[in-house]
Amino acid sequence: MAPLNGAVVPPKKKRIGVMTSGGDSQGMNGVVRSVVRMAIHMGCEAYAVYEGYDGLVQGGDLIKQMHWDDVRGFLSRGGTLIGTKRCMEFYERPGRVKAAKNMIERGMDALIICGGDGSLTGADKFRSEWPGLLEELVKTGELKQEQIEPYQHLNICGLVGSIDNDMSGTDATIGCYSSLERICEMVDAVFDTAASHKRGFVIEVMGRHCGWLALMASIATGADYVFIPEKPPGVGWEEEMCDIVTSHRSWGKRRTIIIISEGAQDTELKKITADQVVNVLTEKLNLDTRKTVLGHIQRGGLPSYFDRWLSTLQGVEAVNAILDATPETKTPVITIRENKIERSDLQECVALTKSVAEAIKQKDFAKAMKLRDVEFKEYFDSYKLTTSTDNTALRLPEGKRMRIAIIHVGAPAGGMNPATRAAVAYCRSRGHTPIAIHNGFPGLQRHHDDKPLGSVRECQWIDVDPWVNEGGSELGTNRGLPSEDMDKTAYCFELYKFDALFLIGGFEAFTAASEIRKSRDKYPSFKIPLVVLPATVSNNVPGTEYSLGSDTCLNTLIGFCDAIRQSASASRRRVFVVETQGGKSGYLATMAGLSIGALAVYIPEEGINIHMLARDIEFLRESFQHDRGASRAGKIILRNELASDTYTTQAVADMIKEEARGRFESRAAVPGHYQQGGKPSPMDRIRALRMAIKCMQFLEETFAGKSQDEINSDPRNAVVIGVQGSEVVFNPMGGDDGLEATQTDWKLRRPKNEFWRPLKGTVDVLSGRPTDLDCCGECGKLLVSSGGLPKAVSASRPITPMPQRPHEPQGPSIGDRLTAVVSRS
Ligand code: ADP
Repeated sequence: MAPLNGAVVPPKKKRIGVMTSGGDSQGMNGVVRSVVRMAIHMGCEAYAVYEGYDGLVQGGDLIKQMHWDDVRGFLSRGGTLIGTKRCMEFYERPGRVKAAKNMIERGMDALIICGGDGSLTGADKFRSEWPGLLEELVKTGELKQEQIEPYQHLNICGLVGSIDNDMSGTDATIGCYSSLERICEMVDAVFDTAASHKRGFVIEVMGRHCGWLALMASIATGADYVFIPEKPPGVGWEEEMCDIVTSHRSWGKRRTIIIISEGAQDTELKKITADQVVNVLTEKLNLDTRKTVLGHIQRGGLPSYFDRWLSTLQGVEAVNAILDATPETKTPVITIRENKIERSDLQECVALTKSVAEAIKQKDFAKAMKLRDVEFKEYFDSYKLTTSTDNTALRLPEGKRMRIAIIHVGAPAGGMNPATRAAVAYCRSRGHTPIAIHNGFPGLQRHHDDKPLGSVRECQWIDVDPWVNEGGSELGTNRGLPSEDMDKTAYCFELYKFDALFLIGGFEAFTAASEIRKSRDKYPSFKIPLVVLPATVSNNVPGTEYSLGSDTCLNTLIGFCDAIRQSASASRRRVFVVETQGGKSGYLATMAGLSIGALAVYIPEEGINIHMLARDIEFLRESFQHDRGASRAGKIILRNELASDTYTTQAVADMIKEEARGRFESRAAVPGHYQQGGKPSPMDRIRALRMAIKCMQFLEETFAGKSQDEINSDPRNAVVIGVQGSEVVFNPMGGDDGLEATQTDWKLRRPKNEFWRPLKGTVDVLSGRPTDLDCCGECGKLLVSSGGLPKAVSASRPITPMPQRPHEPQGPSIGDRLTAVVSRS
């Protein structure tokens, strides 16, 4: 019908569907929430397809429009709230024809599918058959030609949701880190009983044909032996395993932990079972051994910080990808490499994943390891190194061996101990001498020739092996700096003949390395290589986007927020103003805000002003007014501890209470040092191993056997290891273009260009907070990823870059803030 009075008929809004499929995984709800809200933010309509492909095939009530409030509270829930189901019909063409018909009849322009490799294989098949499916629908008279006309290209985007981390092309799948956390909790829990009775435990974990969960759990818990399908033990594995266990016991270890993947097999593809392993240990070593099968516990529980973060940002990126798509665009799957969220080619990733399975079937295990991911092999080799430190085959010649001092500097952070343990393991197996400096620089400076305090000690493997899951700092750490007694510090460097210094810590570690570096002319003993491994909950060290301990802290913080939010469910209408740590960096507050769906986040970079508070209080009033009871939980505002001198946490809570005029309540909550967490998170543990070993390799490859002059003239003689975008790199500290001169805000103790700043806009958009967006400005799209810094020495794998996104953000973009991305070799 023609429009009356010449009125313009608004164009139909784009309809974007979201679906979860296959095995459920923690974080799937985060995807649904961010896709729904981002789609609405971009002026589209959002639809949920319930029960996976079954919903698409059956249609009807299983496809529902979703509104902003329908996804409230989703972020912190495990499993999938829109359901998932194995759908046999979709395996067959007639099922896919029905699915295509439903999509067109419901006017769905695009579909975002979150699932494992099976679901994405199905999606890929659906995409490739699409024109044929439409043709068939017209031919059979089910749809008319004009009905299919607007839907010539299937616009789909994949997100990998799986606990197994079995998809090639991405470092992590949504759910894998939460699952790893469950496993580590369980293994940590059997530690004590195993040690008490000197028992052995064989623990079977999930993962289907992928050994990621088993390998990472072994690294994170210091298991004695691991069985994974990609790297099966050869014939005679029984003997190898027993030798390793016997050797560990001979060092004084009281417990034995063996982790076995459910897909474990030998090189002849013969299944190895947990019972078999138990029998070998019992019969050959007379070890009292028990079996524990973790089963579905591994899928359960709340999503970890990382899975909330990943699902939120990948959901946003999936909507961006759908809106950018043209008929020529390859179907994307959203992936992550290190810290960078990217779009990859779905077809390529599915093919690569299949080739791993094929390589295993062909018994080409070297190929399977390589195809899985270069990092995977690196992790495996590093893990092996920690289980066989007495293997003399890896020793370097005498002239290349170094005396490497290890020191912790600054506040304790999760991962300091596992990093030290890994560095000691590496040193021991290569013939270097690892030397622990206890109690930081003050420990060194208290040295007296006639009364040595023993703060400098050579490390034995058995001393550090139990540190694998210990929080805090076993070496002792504090904020003392070399400058507090430079002469004594230099004297001790000379006395103990350090060839290199490995500093683990936050901004103080960076400052300490800088002080030593700058004093080399005066003190020749400082002419040794220095490597800083960032470890701080604040994640404010220049040269990296990730610091050890930050994941542990964020996990603790979101657990705290979940709990207090829950506490409000009885009283309703309560706002909590939670104070986070972080010093002058708003990283913690922003990332926590992204992962819990905070209503507002106050950070030092932006400060707090009266207009902001007034606007947020108004927003609170409105949201309580429209609260349809979808979620009874309280609301959270996060305030960094130094966001404002005037508007303290209590002051903000009081102002809200006053202005609410009895319509809602507010409370201040300060978790304080609780945020530093107990045991390090599995991510901090495994990254500690990887980063520490990379640091040791860097020292060895760059400086072993070099003269003092050669070291002194090398710009890499003081570096920070860091994650930058999709790479792990070593950034030189000195020089005109080094970190100290170009990237450090010494006064505010944070990097000049904070990579995460554009993500602040995403927190606001997804909570619906009225604010100025930190997006490209032109189209409302949000930024989800970061770039990198220049002049870094790559420490990472070669990666084939996928095509760049067509939509390159304009305005205050990350690209302007950070200089060119380090090109991938
Ligand atoms: P996951 O996605 O966790 O790997 P599945 O392998 O069970 O789980 O796949 C989930 C659903 O995806 C299946 O029930 C089926 O509907 C669909 N699917 C999986 N593989 C294919 C395929 N090769 N062709 C068509 N559909 C598939």
